[in-house]
Amino acid sequence: MQNRRHFLQIIPISLGMMSLWPKLIENTESNTPRSAPDGPPLRVAFLGLGSYANRVAEAIKDSQRLKITGLISGTPAKLETWKNKYQVPDSSCYHYGNFDDIKNNPNIDAVYICTPNALHKDQTLRLAAAGKHVICEKPMAINVKEAKEMISACEKAGVKLLVGYRMHFEAKTQEIVKMRMAGDFGKLVFFQGLCGFKIGDPNQWRLNKDLAGGGAMMDIGIYAINGARYMIGEDPIWITAQETKTDPVKFKEGVDETIQFQMGFPNGAVASCLSTYNTSFLDRFLLTGHNGFAELQPATGYGPIKGKTNKGELTQPHVTHQLMQMEEMAEIILRNKIPFLPVDGKEGLKDMIIIEAIFKAVQTGNKIKLTWD
Ligand code: NAD
Repeated sequence: MQNRRHFLQIIPISLGMMSLWPKLIENTESNTPRSAPDGPPLRVAFLGLGSYANRVAEAIKDSQRLKITGLISGTPAKLETWKNKYQVPDSSCYHYGNFDDIKNNPNIDAVYICTPNALHKDQTLRLAAAGKHVICEKPMAINVKEAKEMISACEKAGVKLLVGYRMHFEAKTQEIVKMRMAGDFGKLVFFQGLCGFKIGDPNQWRLNKDLAGGGAMMDIGIYAINGARYMIGEDPIWITAQETKTDPVKFKEGVDETIQFQMGFPNGAVASCLSTYNTSFLDRFLLTGHNGFAELQPATGYGPIKGKTNKGELTQPHVTHQLMQMEEMAEIILRNKIPFLPVDGKEGLKDMIIIEAIFKAVQTGNKIKLTWD
């Protein structure tokens, strides 16, 4: 994500610099698809052909475990480019008005939603009604109510709902979680999650509450929330939070610029996190316990992720995150694989519950208690 964050920052500075971008990405990413699966590949359609969809599609284009078989976009020119690039027939190209017809398309198993956050819920409901599995980008929705509706619609339709938590498949992240599970760090004491980038163009949808559902927290702070949960291995039971805003013109009412928040966990560990659109390249996790520590920096960017523990440097090889995520999701959807860290709708709902609690803590100044059943 370092690349994406950087991209979003440079837009207002120099459009000329954009041409440097693909090269930078090529130089830092390794794309190593796995061997053919025990069964057919996942036939996936993309809904929303923006920057992240492009990244995912590029990452999976040589995979034997996935095939891009459908496209949904409101922009005919994008459909034309994608259709030629990925050899998708006209009969599997849709626009936002007619994509319910996907139910009659036997060549599409799942749809990957890569649109602004506030569109995820309705699109998920329509895809579930069409009988297609859904992979939805994070945040899965803009509030708890929507997330619950999405889960129940997919359950009712008998389709799977997965959330694009790519870090759940990342090797160094998983190694730390395995060490924590093995008790290597001893009794956990503290987690720090710092996530942010300096956002550029004031007119982008990420700064529009109606489309984003908030500001930095929905987009980038969610990594600190989610990270605290998988690093500590529990869900928080209390939350406190404080907001600061240096630019109320750019960050309008309901669009958070910077929020610091703290979370308490049943095992006694405490997390202290920062979510911000007002500082560059902030991407760091730290987990400490009585017997050791783990550190990741960058922790959630597109990689390579770097990290160490009290036992030394983490050396697991980098694989393009989107490739790893999608190849694993193909197994989850087609062959019911249980992932090491969950990526289902209920996992996404937990983060929505926490985000709502953070917003409530900011508004009231109160410590918000959470119960999980
Ligand atoms: P983007 O702006 O580049 O693309 C959004 C796409 O949605 C565009 O193709 C746009 O045309 C389309 N769209 C449809 N209706 C729209 C509307 N009403 N307003 C604006 N755009 C509309 O955004 P993106 O960076 O690709 O983000 C898309 C989703 O992916 C978001 O939910 C974001 O949080 C998520 N994302 C996840 C990661 C990750 O690492 N998992 C990284 C980036 C983005």
